[in-house]
Amino acid sequence: MIKTSADLRQAFLDFYASKQHQVVSSSSLVPGNDATLLFTNAGMVQFKDVFLGAEQRSYTRAVSSQRCVRAGGKHNDLENVGYTARHHTFFEMLGNFSFGDYFKEDAIKYAWEFLTDVLQLPKEKLLVTIYETDDEAFDIWAKQIGVPAEKIIRIGDKTAGKKYESDNFWSMGDTGPCGPCSEIFYDHGEHIWGGPPGSPEEDGDRFIEIWNLVFMQFNRHQDGTMEPLPKPSVDTGMGLERISAIMQNVHSNYEIDIFQNLIKATAQLLHCNDLEHKSLRVIADHIRSCSFLIVDGVMPSNEGRGYVLRRIIRRAIRHGHKLEAKGHFFHKLVAPLIEQMGQAYPELAQQQAVIEKILRIEEEQFGRTLDRGMMLLEDILSNLNGDTVSGEDVFKLYDTYGFPADLTADIARERQLKIDQNGFDVAMGLQRERAQQASQFGTNYNEQLKTDKHTNFKGYTNHNFSATVVELFNS
Ligand code: ATP
Ligand code: MG
Ligand code: MG
Ligand code: MG
Repeated sequence: MIKTSADLRQAFLDFYASKQHQVVSSSSLVPGNDATLLFTNAGMVQFKDVFLGAEQRSYTRAVSSQRCVRAGGKHNDLENVGYTARHHTFFEMLGNFSFGDYFKEDAIKYAWEFLTDVLQLPKEKLLVTIYETDDEAFDIWAKQIGVPAEKIIRIGDKTAGKKYESDNFWSMGDTGPCGPCSEIFYDHGEHIWGGPPGSPEEDGDRFIEIWNLVFMQFNRHQDGTMEPLPKPSVDTGMGLERISAIMQNVHSNYEIDIFQNLIKATAQLLHCNDLEHKSLRVIADHIRSCSFLIVDGVMPSNEGRGYVLRRIIRRAIRHGHKLEAKGHFFHKLVAPLIEQMGQAYPELAQQQAVIEKILRIEEEQFGRTLDRGMMLLEDILSNLNGDTVSGEDVFKLYDTYGFPADLTADIARERQLKIDQNGFDVAMGLQRERAQQASQFGTNYNEQLKTDKHTNFKGYTNHNFSATVVELFNS
């Protein structure tokens, strides 16, 4: 019986290898081939040029388990963490790919075989969505696989105002490869709130999307016309944590092996007895994204990718504060993370000292202003007229105490309040001078590591910084 996340990852790779797929390693979270993309957010990212025909490989079928971060840019699940059972900032996406090789029929057959034969999932708990006009996919699901028609749901284009997008048409960009999707959902049972995809209650967590099959079928031109691709392709993605939850008979991703062990380690460190506390889940999520981002060379900073990392770290520290953490705790979670994931990702253990050090520096810095910032924020919240924290107050917390606006928003949201984001942006613009002073909260890691007695760090010149540092730590 395949149960652990590690076994599932392996079973997936083995299954597709047995169908002549080349096993390809996960690529970096920092996309090497796409400057417009903040982080690698799907398995297909490393194959983008292959799909576009700009790069040739020696194989036409591939399978991977890709580390992904969705905490900014087009896919941002940061605000969902702690609120849904299924979203993380960092997760692993299992995917199989066909570069002009097999298409819809085999993509669907393989996926179904893996779920119902290899994993032995009960067919009656699965339902699928297709793009509203994709009769070809309907026929494969209905006639070849035997899914009852009422369990094949046609989904149209995005409905405005919906919290989660459920548009079943995928495109790489405004032009280029695009095509319909078919998604596979699992019904976790009546006791959980939520409705099937396409229904008004779909945002609930009863029916959880586990796998997205993308059929790259057309090439969209500048004028919007769509030309059928001579060799259509396939790109799929299934969240390892979501399929693990099903195989481990739990509802929430946070109840699976990897997370339970991390949550227990966090609880022990923070002396928290409530293992279901939301803050423990958030911290366990954040230690994964932060550690892996650092492994892939992202350094905390006040802009771009580095600022996303810093914001996640500060959110984790704030949740620790909420649990009344005594002292710095976040960097101490790197070791338990390595216990869980070190085997699949040896680079984690190789870079342990670097990750811990960087997280610790961030903790020390933010720790200096966090208490006072929280006091001010409590004061603001208790004297609030209405339900919105003013842009000026949000800005003051940012400028004086190093509170990123999204962190203030996160705290406000816990109390059913919100922040004036526009007002904050205006205050930022108006006081650019002062905002620049906020960079005093930044750290020059070059300087820090240079003065560290344990390293012979002599500075770095390229952005593949952590690899450089590792060499120095090991030397
Ligand atoms: P959802 O609708 O639940 O937000 P999605 O449609 O945004 O998911 P896709 O972009 O289709 O997700 O990604 C493919 C698969 O990756 C999903 O079916 C899911 O299993 C997994 N996945 C996506 N986002 C996350 C996340 N934030 N955390 C964990 N797994 C995820
Ligand atoms: Mg999503
Ligand atoms: Mg979806
Ligand atoms: Mg999807």
